[in-house]
Amino acid sequence: MTAQDSRGDRRPRGSGTPARYSRQIPMAMMGEAGQRTLSESKVLVVGLGGLGTVVGSYLAAAGIGHITLVDDDVVEMSNLNRQFIYGDAVGEQKAPAAAAFLAKVNPNVQVEPVVQSIQDAVLDWNAYDLAFDCLDNNESRQALNKGCRDAGVPLVHAGVDATRGQVFTSMPGVTACLRCMLPKGRQDRIPVFGPAAGAVASIQASEGIRVLLERYPPLTGKILLMDLGDYSFETVEMERADDCPVCQRD
Ligand SMILES: [Zn+2]
Repeated sequence: MTAQDSRGDRRPRGSGTPARYSRQIPMAMMGEAGQRTLSESKVLVVGLGGLGTVVGSYLAAAGIGHITLVDDDVVEMSNLNRQFIYGDAVGEQKAPAAAAFLAKVNPNVQVEPVVQSIQDAVLDWNAYDLAFDCLDNNESRQALNKGCRDAGVPLVHAGVDATRGQVFTSMPGVTACLRCMLPKGRQDRIPVFGPAAGAVASIQASEGIRVLLERYPPLTGKILLMDLGDYSFETVEMERADDCPVCQRD
């Protein structure tokens, strides 16, 4: 879906800065050059649940130029405690419903929905500057991890389990990958505290924007472990696994 028009690009009088981005451009890590970088970036958001819906919303709002949304699920009533962008879209495909929402968030960005699993989607991996793992199962995560590693695409992983969450940035050729970290699967349909999904997704979006801006993303090769049960935050270095069949080929 292409959703470009001029409504979101009104500029304050006497300024070259689009009003939409005028509260983020003054940040040292952004500037006009950083905003241009974001507008020229192409990212992949895989999984449109409690993480992907929030990540996608922040990326669109920040002015990421092209966002591809991948998910083959439909919206279920049980999703809505955290996936509130879907509103009354129960029964609809998530990817086009999320794309329609993001187009309203920022009509100046291009949003492309892909109604397929990451295992089945045919993607031009080399076209992407960054990918976000917003998935809820390890089989799909490993497919995304392999695609990113083979194409040299950085990947920001996140996961959530009840009040706990984690975020990790995988840089091809530099850090451990998701196969090193998560050799075994996790169970599906875990409980999720809505605000925990939102907090984890916000950190994931922040980390991804820093990757795009090349502003020393703090979680490169480190995993952030957080718990909204007691508001604990801890980062742990992740080493490559000696026997990892994916990243040892980088
Ligand atoms: Zn690995």
